[in-house]
Amino acid sequence: TPLQLAPLIQETLKRFEALNPEFQFVSNTENIHDVMLVMNPLHVEQILMIILDNAVKYSLETKRIDIHAILLKQEVQIIIEDHGIGIPEADLPFVFDRFYRVDKARNHEIAGTGLGLAIAKQLVMNVHGKLTITSIETQGTRVELTLPIYQV
Ligand code: ATP
Repeated sequence: TPLQLAPLIQETLKRFEALNPEFQFVSNTENIHDVMLVMNPLHVEQILMIILDNAVKYSLETKRIDIHAILLKQEVQIIIEDHGIGIPEADLPFVFDRFYRVDKARNHEIAGTGLGLAIAKQLVMNVHGKLTITSIETQGTRVELTLPIYQV
């Protein structure tokens, strides 16, 4: 059964807002109001939680996360941007690898196993979507999640 994406994003964001009251989540999903997916809602939720959890963990100094959506012909893009510590260019190719964590020293106070993005990538690949990350160290990170739309 098809699943409405925008409410699922908003519900997930509400939970993150409740857990991180000092953070500002700025979101706009109006343009994907009617977008439906054919996916397990728990999987969509898990992907979003992994990305948002990272955005929070790695932007403790700036505390602002922007979420917006872009509607394409057969796909929807959800873009999650933080303004935190970013990822060095040399590490970017490896962030989807299992157990990979950028610079243990920098991360030593931030809990994590390095599995989150590997799991998210797998869930996205299973539905023939795309998950890409661009980042500038000390500036922030932009995650683009692309999922196929259910066409009526
Ligand atoms: P967990 O398995 O609990 O998610 P994790 O955050 O270490 O732990 P991943 O989500 O797989 O693991 O991320 C891999 C690594 O990529 C992280 O350790 C971190 O160094 C880097 N990273 C991921 N997202 C961001 C982000 N938004 N900003 C900065 N670095 C990030």
